[in-house]
Amino acid sequence: MESKSCMKSDSPLRLSIEKQREMLAQKELSSVELTEEYIRRIESVDGELGAFITTTFGKARKDAALADERIVKGESTPLLGVTIGIKDLIGTKGIPTTAGSKIIENYKPPYNATVIEKLEAAGAVIVGKLNLDEFGMGSSCENSAYKKTCNPWAPDRTPGGSSGGSAAAVAAAECAGALGTDTGGSIRQPASFCNVVGVKPTYGRVSRFGVVAYASSLDQVGTFARDVGGAAAVLQVIAGRDPHDTTSAPYPVPDFGAVKGTPVKGMKVGVPEEFFMDGLNPEIAGAVKKAVEDLEKIHGVEVVEISLPHAEYAVAAYYLVATAEASSNLARYDGAHFGYRTPSPATLSDMYTKSRSEAFGEEVKRRIMLGTFVLSAGYYDAYYLKALRVRRLIQKDFFDAFEKVDAVIAPTSPLPPFRLGELMDDPLQMYLADIYTVTASLAGLPAMSMPCGFTSSPELPIGMQIIAPPWQEETMFKLAFAYEEGNRYIGRFPGEDA
Ligand code: GLN
Repeated sequence: MESKSCMKSDSPLRLSIEKQREMLAQKELSSVELTEEYIRRIESVDGELGAFITTTFGKARKDAALADERIVKGESTPLLGVTIGIKDLIGTKGIPTTAGSKIIENYKPPYNATVIEKLEAAGAVIVGKLNLDEFGMGSSCENSAYKKTCNPWAPDRTPGGSSGGSAAAVAAAECAGALGTDTGGSIRQPASFCNVVGVKPTYGRVSRFGVVAYASSLDQVGTFARDVGGAAAVLQVIAGRDPHDTTSAPYPVPDFGAVKGTPVKGMKVGVPEEFFMDGLNPEIAGAVKKAVEDLEKIHGVEVVEISLPHAEYAVAAYYLVATAEASSNLARYDGAHFGYRTPSPATLSDMYTKSRSEAFGEEVKRRIMLGTFVLSAGYYDAYYLKALRVRRLIQKDFFDAFEKVDAVIAPTSPLPPFRLGELMDDPLQMYLADIYTVTASLAGLPAMSMPCGFTSSPELPIGMQIIAPPWQEETMFKLAFAYEEGNRYIGRFPGEDA
């Protein structure tokens, strides 16, 4: 795959979203040409990469032609003519939306998710639906009922999950940007595994109307791109209050890209001691520490050691809250209201049982059972309620830290991309690898992952997380834009030197 992924040095697929927009606006490039390049790219690499569940080339071609017409008329919308891929958990009108599950294999939503409506209004060209762990449950994309996605940097390794298809597609230049969802790290961890930028905004920043629910107090839609500006530009389009989603906040959306180039001198960055203890791969620790040092030495950021004392309970609390909510959200797939129905049930109860048993994957069943258990009478207080209390303490840890610092920097994953199959028989190890991402999710904070280095042998991407106070994505982006300057890992293509 690596040889095939070699791209011409003047390929427009190498350009950032910002640069593509400029060239499109100046008519140095047409959206039809650009889209055809992406389609050729998908056709040549995706057979092996496996990022797409469904491609929508026919619609993409039409939308690209329409974008060109609008450009000729002098129209300018933020993503006019730009190619975007969509995690297959996000509903697309008339286009299969599988959630990575057999249970809704044939579901074609009668309406678009709000984020899709917004992308289309901004002129984006959608090329297809991207692979994921079933219902977003997983960290390796291997829980998809449809296919395995490879890591473009090492085909025998996972691209991460659950938005592994989105991260891999952007890393392999199959689309300029992508949407993902992040419940406990599903945007940030695959971004770090694939050497791209992945942003999970504040809980409530983006509408979830039309997005298949996993754990509703945690789920948030976010973005992927090859650089910070691209991820910010796509987020700009999808963010904001939506009357169809009462959990979307009525706050004004600032211009995220406008903070590019703002000096960060004097900003205080917290480094949590708990995130650099046992279990962290030493090369990842080294790369993140080096990034913090660079921010200090080159950009004049002040580094402060902080403590998040309850972080050690975050994985446990997350897997209680998330599975509890999942067991309730997934009750609707019962063979009657939604989804697959077993062909010849004996009784009504047999119909429910068989439909669910036959069409949910192993991991989903495991989580439904866990979640049902922790919500059941007699265990509710001991597990679910306790997890909610721990969640509040974790949030308080962050709020205490934000009294002293503007943002927190941490590793994204304790492990570099692991081998496909490596953790599949050990769900607990897979859960534990979410240690650094679930904290920000439980606290509802904006957090992003960006490239900050590579392991030595084999050479695999390393990502670092920037976490900011609620509604302060601008703070996060300010630091990210600063760190991006002169960063030789950002935008690097698989199989090519830095
Ligand atoms: N890996 C985590 C889980 O399996 C996070 C998934 C996500 O954010 N959707 O729940």
